[in-house]
Amino acid sequence: MAELNVLQVSPELHEAQWWEAEPNGKVHCYLCPRHCHIGRGQAGFCFIRTNHDGKLYSLGYGAPAALQPFPARSMRSGGLRKLRRLRMERAS
Ligand code: SF4
Repeated sequence: MAELNVLQVSPELHEAQWWEAEPNGKVHCYLCPRHCHIGRGQAGFCFIRTNHDGKLYSLGYGAPAALQPFPARSMRSGGLRKLRRLRMERAS
């Protein structure tokens, strides 16, 4: 399998959790039920966790895909109405 050159080593690079090293240089990620065994320089099925020199790194750490401005609890207690009202005010 071809080696991926997606990993930019930087101070922001975050070592992943929920994995263990294997004697053959691969790492075993058990974060999700796929249980990937990832070779050096390769990424798991999700392409967000990658093996660099026998350590597993999470490429998405600190880079959320979405942010929720209101906590879920607020949504249950009228937060959704407040959000709609704010949107209507902005639209007018
Ligand atoms: S798909 Fe990603 S999170 Fe799931 S086991 Fe594989 S590398 Fe880990």
